Amino acid sequence: MDTLNTGVRNVKNVANYIIGKDSFLDLRNILLERIGNDSEKVVFFIDIYFYNSHLLEEIKLDFPNTNIIPVDSTTEPTTSAIDAVIERMKLEEMKPEVLVAIGGGCTLDTCKAVSNLWTNGGQASQYQGWDLVKKPGLYKIAVPTISGTGAEATRTCVMTNTETGLKLGMNSDFTVFDYVVMDPELTSTVPRQQFFYTGMDAYIHCIESIRGNFRNPIGDSFSEQTLQLCRDVFNSSNMKSDDARSKLMVASYLGGCAIATSYVGLIHPLSAGLSVVLGIHHCEANCIAMRAVEEFYPEEYREFWGMVEKQKIHIRSGVTSELNRLKMDELYDAMIVHEKPLYNALGEDFNDILTKEKVFELYRRM
Ligand code: NAD
Ligand code: ZN
Repeated sequence: MDTLNTGVRNVKNVANYIIGKDSFLDLRNILLERIGNDSEKVVFFIDIYFYNSHLLEEIKLDFPNTNIIPVDSTTEPTTSAIDAVIERMKLEEMKPEVLVAIGGGCTLDTCKAVSNLWTNGGQASQYQGWDLVKKPGLYKIAVPTISGTGAEATRTCVMTNTETGLKLGMNSDFTVFDYVVMDPELTSTVPRQQFFYTGMDAYIHCIESIRGNFRNPIGDSFSEQTLQLCRDVFNSSNMKSDDARSKLMVASYLGGCAIATSYVGLIHPLSAGLSVVLGIHHCEANCIAMRAVEEFYPEEYREFWGMVEKQKIHIRSGVTSELNRLKMDELYDAMIVHEKPLYNALGEDFNDILTKEKVFELYRRM
């Protein structure tokens, strides 16, 4: 195959980022430069964890007339929830010029979707797919508070349409953040289990892309560096040390860049089935899906379970043990629609390998 024939030809990266301890303090200046003292021109999207926190109080002091929208990350973003946010913003007569997201993938993705929808009109479900967004969205700034998904770097925002069951983002150049503020201090409060699940999303993105058929030197470089950082973090005695949290923040960003220039493989489609049918959150679902992939990713399988043991993390098992045939069919349907990643992992004959019986067998291992 041609070295540069990766299936992905155009890539858009984040325009600006600032990284390092206490970089959150610079957010104030970034906003001042953009909107002066008109703090009503900013809408903050904040993960509910921070809702009664010191951080929120500081924001209110710095930006007294600003608008704050809590993002409830107990459910991952749906198209109807995004539409509801737009309705609320219109009802409250907000006039945003800048959006700021402070939180994890759910908060970042909500902000990305709202930004596009605000300027393009219509409903979120109309833009699920590739390059359907016609105009730039509102200027948007990401402040990740948990590391791993790479949502701060990618050109998508994952949303589920609960009516159709479609889990797909707005893949567009306009979805990429204009500014990312990466301050590893913000991730210190993440509970250990969650820290591991989300952090492992970066590792899993990159093992899938580096073992795929659509390889290219740019994607491989991002993936290799991401994997090295993840290994340093999850093989260390304290995965939440200052140094490890800094490394994981970089891994998350680079993992996002890796995936923007390549594809995921078999684990993400299996995980998507668990999310759509059983409502298990993305990053935990990935870890559960790792139970089933030894024959496809033998080295990474061993490495992953070694890191689980090292960090004493509990990964659920038996999640499909009670499912009837109808639910198993739903799992199959929700995973097999992900043709591009499956093709990337297994080649064009992926349907011959992943027969319905085979997919059932894989799900039964979870
Ligand atoms: P999340 O937003 O789901 O949050 C996970 C949990 O961590 C929540 O309970 C939240 O309250 C908590 N939390 C976040 N920061 C915290 C902090 N500093 N201290 C204490 N608790 C904190 O986090 P996630 O795992 O980063 O995101 C998952 C979402 O990202 C899914 O919806 C998934 O589909 C999406 N995703 C998006 C992309 C993309 O490219 N856009 C890629 C992968 C995944
Ligand atoms: Zn992922």
